[in-house]
Amino acid sequence: MTTDEYVQGVRSGDRTLLARAITLIESNAQNHQAQAQEVLTALLPKRQPSIRVGITGVPGAGKSTFIENLGGQLTAAGHKVAVLAVDPSSSVTGGSILGDKTRMEKLATDENAFIRPSPTAGTLGGVARKTRESIVLFEAAGYDVILVETVGVGQSEIQVRSMVDVFLLILLAGAGDELQGIKKGVVEIADAIIINKADGPGLQAAEMARSEFERVLHYLRPATTGWTTKAYACSALKGEGVAGVWQMVEEFGELGRSSGTFEDRRREQEKMWVRALVTEGLADRFAEHAGVAAVRAEMEEKVARGELPATVAAARLLDLFNKPTA
Ligand code: GDP
Repeated sequence: MTTDEYVQGVRSGDRTLLARAITLIESNAQNHQAQAQEVLTALLPKRQPSIRVGITGVPGAGKSTFIENLGGQLTAAGHKVAVLAVDPSSSVTGGSILGDKTRMEKLATDENAFIRPSPTAGTLGGVARKTRESIVLFEAAGYDVILVETVGVGQSEIQVRSMVDVFLLILLAGAGDELQGIKKGVVEIADAIIINKADGPGLQAAEMARSEFERVLHYLRPATTGWTTKAYACSALKGEGVAGVWQMVEEFGELGRSSGTFEDRRREQEKMWVRALVTEGLADRFAEHAGVAAVRAEMEEKVARGELPATVAAARLLDLFNKPTA
């Protein structure tokens, strides 16, 4: 397929072509990469306004049930919804649990929704890059709600936070200490805490957890300037409280757009991404540099034995890196 065919296909909203364009972006083959960059460059100015929502939570918290319910409500209201996933563990297991269509049966057959599982190959950085680039495709295809699902593995929440406008943390009411099992720092990057499974025998515990979180959030710095992070209770299974969460997301978007923080964050995210890509590229080149590779292990050994200061070793290696290889 030509670059123009990809570009026109995506813009026309053709699902098959959109899927093929994502496959192109996810490919690690060099010729595919080159064409993918052309497609992205052409589509970048064609993007439609959207809201990008990150959703995280431990396995079993109810992320897919929540997305299934929310996604259905949104498409019924006329939105086009893309569901993407960042699951670095998928490269280890070879399969992705997140963004799995069998977990969102109704949404998977909804013609105004598009579910794409996590790219499986590569490092978290690689997976995150592919997801970011897919977002461009979806926005150019007219998807106005982008949901990015992730699970608390390593740095994946931080990666997703850096590509979305608003970040939701789905939690379950615990038996005792509500803060137990919650990875440090995740609450601080969330724009809303959602206590799920507020139904049946779990209703009371969920309500208690919600008010406990409200209290804790009071002491934390909000993840977004000018926004007050609040806690919500919902039942994704029954669909209760889900619309309230979406209303909050819309308010977040409206407030951010009128104050300018929405666009500011996006611009900052793009700049940070360039920097991250450059840093990553430099690290790769450094690792592959023949002159550096020849002496690196020996230098590190000397530092380890206490014969050479680390600063001196690093400076010498960087000097070698800056010299053109013969
Ligand atoms: P995920 O791993 O975070 O995507 O969690 P799932 O959406 O797969 O949900 C895990 C289990 O919890 C499933 O058996 C769901 O049916 C159940 N579940 C999800 N949301 C709710 C809810 O609001 N209430 C109740 N009672 N069960 C739920």
